[in-house]
Amino acid sequence: MNELIYLDNAATTAARPEVVEAMLPYFTENFGNASAIYGIGAKSKAAMEHSRETIANALGTNAKDIYFTAGGSESDNWALKAAAEAYREKGNHIITSKIEHHAILHTCQYLEKHGYEVTYLDVDENGVVKLDELKKAIRPTTILISVMFANNEIGTIEPVKEIGAIAKEHGILFHTDAVQAFGQVPINVDDMNIDMLSASGHKLNGPKGIGFLYIRKGLKLRSFIHGGAQERNRRAGTENIPGIVGFGKAVEIALRTMEERTKKETQLRDYLIDRVLQEVPYSRVNGHRTDRLPNNANFCFQFIEGESLLIMLDQNGICGSSGSACTSGSLDPSHVLLAIGLPHEIAHGSLRLTLGEDTTLEQIDFVVDKIKEIVARLRSMSPLYEDFIKNKQ
Ligand SMILES: *Cc1c(COP(=O)(O)O)cnc(C)c1O
Repeated sequence: MNELIYLDNAATTAARPEVVEAMLPYFTENFGNASAIYGIGAKSKAAMEHSRETIANALGTNAKDIYFTAGGSESDNWALKAAAEAYREKGNHIITSKIEHHAILHTCQYLEKHGYEVTYLDVDENGVVKLDELKKAIRPTTILISVMFANNEIGTIEPVKEIGAIAKEHGILFHTDAVQAFGQVPINVDDMNIDMLSASGHKLNGPKGIGFLYIRKGLKLRSFIHGGAQERNRRAGTENIPGIVGFGKAVEIALRTMEERTKKETQLRDYLIDRVLQEVPYSRVNGHRTDRLPNNANFCFQFIEGESLLIMLDQNGICGSSGSACTSGSLDPSHVLLAIGLPHEIAHGSLRLTLGEDTTLEQIDFVVDKIKEIVARLRSMSPLYEDFIKNKQ
């Protein structure tokens, strides 16, 4: 097999041809500024509002509540910083989880340096936030709960509806980072009592550098970028019309294909997981077995370094990830794998494979065969493994 086997769709995805095609005219003949009065400006504005409508429909809300940003990280920053500031009079306490993306965790650390207190909730061995801990963590000064919809490393889907209900009962704002979940699983912001939601185009076969923040009607949040009156005065800057158009197209396709894609990906994912667990000794799967993103598989292989495995997979044309953001140079294992209770030495041997809609059974078979081969080879060079086998005998 000489083709590239791309199994890192949680890191980013390829924009679909239809998405690129929809975007192209907005670089060239329809380049107008959406704030302008003349025809090509109005065209840009109409295209942007069409995307906003598509996205709002996907969440069961109104177009007016969708604010375009430059991606998931910006949306997360905006939600947390603006909510913290807006509700400062009420309190200074924020609740989040230990397994959030760094866009949330590092923003929380920033807020801690500016007088806020943050509780980082534990998760269980499957990566599910503990709801009883959440209830116990709530104080009179709690102003915000931010828990991700689905985890980017281990794929676990959080009990968002339950968290939303708890937040609502206590009159606390609820934000969710849905960057991995949006377009993959059904979301309704009213049913789930979500007050703010972050998403990003490039995780669902849309373009990079475009995202949005959903802000529930009536929430008084300051603007993130000050300047012109774009995005209803809340996010200044000439709109990224090609990005917005591409994002809208990607969402439209993701919704249309969700059911079928979920079925296909779940089947392939479970086949991949079952084969690895059965055929690679001393391996484990991380994350919830059923409440997980349809395209996510995350493994640990004892006695090997995830980095070495990734490099050798790459030599075979296979793109995977260690599931950790610290891929270069750092020896820190993933904070998510540590949070689900794995010891350092096991967390080090992790591999995340995230499927795409074009992934085939043949590719999965090829990948599992390669994993078996490489893991065996790496272990044959490992003194740890040698000791382990000796002691077993
Ligand atoms: C990718 C990702 C982000 C960051 O989104 P960008 O658009 O790349 O800034 C945030 N949260 C989660 C869960 C992600 O997977």
